Amino acid sequence: MNVAVLSGGVGGARFLRGVIGVVDPGNVSIVGNVADDIEVLGLRVSPDLDSILYTLTGLADEERGWGRAGETWQALDTVDQLGGESWFRLGDRDIGLHLVRTELLRHGVPLSEATERITHALGLEAQLLPATDDPLRTFIETSEGTFPFQTWFVARGHRDEVDAVHYAGSPEAAPGPGVLEALAAADVILIAPSNPYVSIGPILAVAEIRAALEQRTVPCVAVSPLIGGRAVKGPADRMLQRLAGGTTPAHVASCYAGLIDALVIDEADAPADLGADVRSVATRTLMTDVEAARRLAAAALDAAGAPA
Ligand code: GDP
Ligand code: CA
Repeated sequence: MNVAVLSGGVGGARFLRGVIGVVDPGNVSIVGNVADDIEVLGLRVSPDLDSILYTLTGLADEERGWGRAGETWQALDTVDQLGGESWFRLGDRDIGLHLVRTELLRHGVPLSEATERITHALGLEAQLLPATDDPLRTFIETSEGTFPFQTWFVARGHRDEVDAVHYAGSPEAAPGPGVLEALAAADVILIAPSNPYVSIGPILAVAEIRAALEQRTVPCVAVSPLIGGRAVKGPADRMLQRLAGGTTPAHVASCYAGLIDALVIDEADAPADLGADVRSVATRTLMTDVEAARRLAAAALDAAGAPA
């Protein structure tokens, strides 16, 4: 069974760890968000792709919730000492990866190929596909101004309420190599419990990816990132409240109108009526450990009528 998963960073990565526990990783294709990418200190950073890579290869710092385990911060301390830009936290080990990626891109290697080389070197079995090789960047509109995603999220600690989200570059963005093929070859398409606006939204802003989902001939199942109407972490609940008008499963499903056949929700949010076209399936969705993530992935596949 081939499975394609649309994913953001940390929430998506946790879910993917479950997916590769119930499906042969060689049959899993991940379409990753790249609209959070940032150029900082001359380095090209792809936080969502890297969260996925680190989590699936066992390199992630589970306690901190992002970045690599055993990380040290000497390079950034020096940057700070020298008055350089140090607000975006880059650890020494992490920087090593960014050096390699940046060098490849500078020589004209597309992000998709750079990602393939890096994931291959680290032994990732699943296929990690950037949603696009084209420049696609999320901007957050607030009453304090419009900010690039990482400025709002990291530097401002996502404190400003969001009035609108824009995906700069989306009209020109084409799917990355292999993305449409992976969606076409999939027996099931899953949407990870990632932030609908800033993680999945930019992927769906690539017109040909959205069209592929609209025209799918296989089931597509999303997993809600909310439990009891609250985000496990991050601003997804506040964004849904403001941009969709609430935080119920119906509000989450509204982000994926016409694109999903079922939404996996937490028992705390059941029962939910999502209309005639979308079923809701309730289970425990908190991924406390790998086993819980596996159970959630199995529930999502089950909801797609393709039990693992
Ligand atoms: P980011 O790109 O690193 O911000 O990560 P994602 O967008 O992929 O994931 C963030 C979302 O994951 C948040 O909205 C969280 O509510 C959600 N999330 C994190 N852990 C869990 C979990 O255990 N269960 C569920 N259902 N959602 C989770
Ligand atoms: Ca992200």
